[in-house]
Amino acid sequence: MSNKKKPKNHYEQEKVTRRKQRQIVVISTALVIILLVAIIGIVLKTQQSSQPNENQNNPSSQETPSINYKEQPIMGTANAPVKLVEFGDYRCPYCKEFEQRIVPKIKKDFIDNGKVSFTFINYTILGKGSQLAANAAEMIYHQYPDSFWNFHKALYAAQGDEKKEWVTKDLLTSIAKKTVPSLDEKNYKQTLDDLSYQNNVIQDYNLAKSMKVEVVPSLFIDGKLVNNPLDYDVVKEAINHSLKQGD
Ligand code: CA
Repeated sequence: MSNKKKPKNHYEQEKVTRRKQRQIVVISTALVIILLVAIIGIVLKTQQSSQPNENQNNPSSQETPSINYKEQPIMGTANAPVKLVEFGDYRCPYCKEFEQRIVPKIKKDFIDNGKVSFTFINYTILGKGSQLAANAAEMIYHQYPDSFWNFHKALYAAQGDEKKEWVTKDLLTSIAKKTVPSLDEKNYKQTLDDLSYQNNVIQDYNLAKSMKVEVVPSLFIDGKLVNNPLDYDVVKEAINHSLKQGD
């Protein structure tokens, strides 16, 4: 009640002062918020532009992919100066062509004399049959490494019509029986039933993805993608180029 007795001008003055104070508080708060937003914006922008783009800033990252060769089948001398890696799918006709027409030439010219090692990695992009075939191949590689390349070759030789699902457990078993002398057939069949090596198949697939593999077959020579792996002249030139660089 005492307020009512205050002189009118004093009351009004106080009111104006309080209003001004409130305005100052609102304006400074707004300024602080604007400033903070601007600072956060600048910081985020700086962070984004300073984040390395691996492909642009570090071209060698694409050329030296992290392939753990110890976990993949290797044809030839493991410490050969030049490393070839094929990403393939047992259901892919071009992979069969690469296996039958190009690989024997590479073997004769470069693998048998210790200049090149050759690694096959699964890139299963053609459905369930591809995965089953890759599981069989992974099983043979892990349990019977000495028989792997014979099995691999025979599997490509047995390739059927691309439009049909020709990969069956029976076919895979008959190929293994012909190419793996000490095969434990029961265990092998169980492996196919359980897809026991699916993790290895997925690891291969993820590796291919990380290396931006788009097609099968894809051939890498010392980590560099070869444009046309079905042209032996191109492959040979690329291998010779890598061999010269290593001198
Ligand atoms: Ca593999």
